[in-house]
Amino acid sequence: TLEDVDISLSSDFATAVPEMAVSWEAVPVAEPELLLLNEPLAEELGLDPAWLRGDGLPFLAGGRGVAQAYAGHQFGGYSPRLGDGRALLLGELTGADGRLRDLHLKGSGRTPFARGGDGLAAVGPMLREYVVSEAMHALGIPTTRSLAVVSTGAVVQREEPLAGAVLARVASSHLRVGSFQYARNTGDVDLLRRLADLAIARHYPGSTHLELFDHVVAAQASLVARWMHVGFIHGVMNTDNMTISGETIDYGPCAFMEAYDTSTTYSSIDHRGRYAFGNQPIVAEWNLARLAEALLPLFADDQDKAVELAMEVLGTFSTRFEEAWISGTRRKLGVSGEVKPLLKDLLVLMQENHVDYTSFFHLLGKAARGDAEPARSLFLDLAGIDAWIARWRELGPDAEEMDRVNPVYIPRNHLVEEALAAGAAGDLAPLHNLLEAVTSPYGERPGLHHFAAPAPQDFSATYRTF
Ligand code: AMP
Ligand code: MG
Ligand code: MG
Repeated sequence: TLEDVDISLSSDFATAVPEMAVSWEAVPVAEPELLLLNEPLAEELGLDPAWLRGDGLPFLAGGRGVAQAYAGHQFGGYSPRLGDGRALLLGELTGADGRLRDLHLKGSGRTPFARGGDGLAAVGPMLREYVVSEAMHALGIPTTRSLAVVSTGAVVQREEPLAGAVLARVASSHLRVGSFQYARNTGDVDLLRRLADLAIARHYPGSTHLELFDHVVAAQASLVARWMHVGFIHGVMNTDNMTISGETIDYGPCAFMEAYDTSTTYSSIDHRGRYAFGNQPIVAEWNLARLAEALLPLFADDQDKAVELAMEVLGTFSTRFEEAWISGTRRKLGVSGEVKPLLKDLLVLMQENHVDYTSFFHLLGKAARGDAEPARSLFLDLAGIDAWIARWRELGPDAEEMDRVNPVYIPRNHLVEEALAAGAAGDLAPLHNLLEAVTSPYGERPGLHHFAAPAPQDFSATYRTF
């Protein structure tokens, strides 16, 4: 039991906002089998990997926790009651660093929020969340983490019968924009205040409620800029999938862009491209406006005044995003000073020439060292890229700086799919190889060329996530 190994989970969320926490038990797992365990993360949390692999295995796939209530705008339409339909917050754990983290299960059975869903998760999508979230972490991007994937032995019916799995997830919290929408929607300002105070205590100690909002705006502006720097497309930026902490959450239809194109959308349910690569900043701002609306009663008694205060903070999003985007792009280009015109021209060239985003910046590092051929050969318009490279060279690019920020290895869609298919069929070797590449994304390593190469064109043209 947990007592025997001295793991004590706190229940700050359930204590602070019991109205938003439904005590619930995970569905028993008949045949738990550990597929992946994140040993470094386990150690960070003060959990013994050897115990987790043995007697502690049930801890990674079951137990009692709470299903969290939240609301959310999904593709722009408001649902007052979403909540953890197939997930449970087991509780909060103080890590070896003294910081509090949520320990959460996904795929742990139906809860009162399940609506028509079966409460389950299939092995493939849980392995996918594991590999992509750990790649994001290695890229230095704030994210929920993946502690383990356990297959359950249960059959999950999708278009075809699939093997079931539970993901053990770790986050600095699971508080979302949608959590605040839910609290606001109850009309209970005291509940809203307790939720906000919980978020402040956890993430932004000492802040006022308006400062809480300001911190979230800053955290999300920075987060989305980081996504844009690596070509990450979240795919389902509903307000219930946007955290207060500024961590990336909910790896569903996400994917990394290959050829640079702002309209890139991989999700098969995103028919209008609402969550396309280039829309992500504007969607984040839209979601933050929903957060502001939810928080209004806490900003000032006079609601006209509250709106004025909220608008002032929300108005900082676009400049904050722009600054984060430009400063990160400067590092990608290895230069300082004014880069906007240079950047704008580059992006037009990349889009027109269907240039692989990750490869280009990686190979541009070689150009900074004198060998421009690999980068220029990605373009059909050679005169265009030659002229651009000449302008960029005049700024004296720093190759080492570039290599520190431009990844060589990202979880490329075709490799993820290959590894998941093998994993679901019982062969985890391709997944381990992929994880090894993407969890050390910087600097070319011998023998890993395969992991740096773009997908074959026929793959990318038709690739869709669910
Ligand atoms: P998502 O699109 O992953 O953000 O999920 C949206 C909502 O659907 C959340 O309330 C989830 O808990 C719920 N949900 C997703 N899949 C399932 C499932 N298989 N069973 C029950 N609820 C689900
Ligand atoms: Mg979600
Ligand atoms: Mg999801």
